[in-house]
Amino acid sequence: MANKSERSWREWKTQRRDVLRVIAAFLAEHFLPRRAFAKKIGTYSKPSHRVIIVTFGGGARYQDTLAPEGWRNIPHLTQDLIPQGLLYPTAINDGITDHYNSSAALATGNWQPVDPWGSQPPQSPTLFEYFRKERKLPAEEAWVIATNKSFGLIGSSQVRGFGDRYAANVILPKQLLLDAIQRAVSTDKGPGVENREAFAKQMLSALDEGYEGFGWQVYESGHQISRELKYSLEKALLDYFNDPRVPSSGDTLTFFMTKEIMRRFSPSLMLVNFWDMDIAHFGSYSLHLQAIMRTDRLVWELWQYVQSSPDYRGRTTMFVIPELGRDGDADGNGFCNHRSGDPSCRHVWLLALGEGVPRRAGSERPIRHVDIAPTAAEILGFKAPGLEGKPLVELAV
Ligand SMILES: [Zn+2]
Repeated sequence: MANKSERSWREWKTQRRDVLRVIAAFLAEHFLPRRAFAKKIGTYSKPSHRVIIVTFGGGARYQDTLAPEGWRNIPHLTQDLIPQGLLYPTAINDGITDHYNSSAALATGNWQPVDPWGSQPPQSPTLFEYFRKERKLPAEEAWVIATNKSFGLIGSSQVRGFGDRYAANVILPKQLLLDAIQRAVSTDKGPGVENREAFAKQMLSALDEGYEGFGWQVYESGHQISRELKYSLEKALLDYFNDPRVPSSGDTLTFFMTKEIMRRFSPSLMLVNFWDMDIAHFGSYSLHLQAIMRTDRLVWELWQYVQSSPDYRGRTTMFVIPELGRDGDADGNGFCNHRSGDPSCRHVWLLALGEGVPRRAGSERPIRHVDIAPTAAEILGFKAPGLEGKPLVELAV
């Protein structure tokens, strides 16, 4: 039987996730495009398939994930997901081993030797642009939801004939939250706990107006939050903002925002960037492993959400891949960084799930990050000519 402190810890964790759910709804309400274009729906033919590319990121070594000694960190992948899909144990990142470059390679099918900090768009057209242009699709059909704040320009290239008008919507939920906090604390007094409280109050007063208005049923009963619930929510919110580990919660927020976007828009093509495990740069191996475990859970929950949604079930192919590994462990601190470009940074894995994917399958054939984009293009039925990557022939697309 769980003792009292274990129980309250569990309750706190549950409550904490509820708070994130509320925050995601708040951000969604304020930052997602309105469905004013609902009228327009029907003026284009919605693609029949969906593709979700998930970066199991930012930066996980083979030894901490797919190698037997890493299995304890990825229980959902090993026990729940890999048996349902096709595993490539050798996926090679041949590009610059940084987050933006690697994810842009996933989004374009070409290696992207651009600024790793995200100040340049991808230098070749993205899948989103090819897809939207050829199929004449509105922006809500293509989304990037990213924890990494340097992904603002990943939604489109500046290549002639492509560009912004065919871009994906890019949303950075953690950055939105931080910006919102920043605005809330930009008062005469300057940043401080009382201003965090002001922000929390702002959010709570919005909630008072009826959180159902956020499009989310956060709690089961009633339209008004009871005083007791409000108090606990307020406390959880303040604890959340005061928690030094808040930055490590970005992926959970990304996950909730992804679900919100799926529920509202049912996009046919999404890139979901998990990134928390990059906390390794700060030198904490245990926090890095915790983030791997959290990502493992979020990927599993995302797949369950796909299965529970009539808009996605039976028509969705999902790719899960670490966008890069991390340095080899010569001095015991290899986990910290990933820019050496050594084999440990480059050798990761790919799991494909869902439509067109054989179950309980594997292929020893080494594949590359750039192979995912042409495969996604085949699944969704549009042309993406001249890519460095080649479609994954093991999938029946
Ligand atoms: Zn990094």
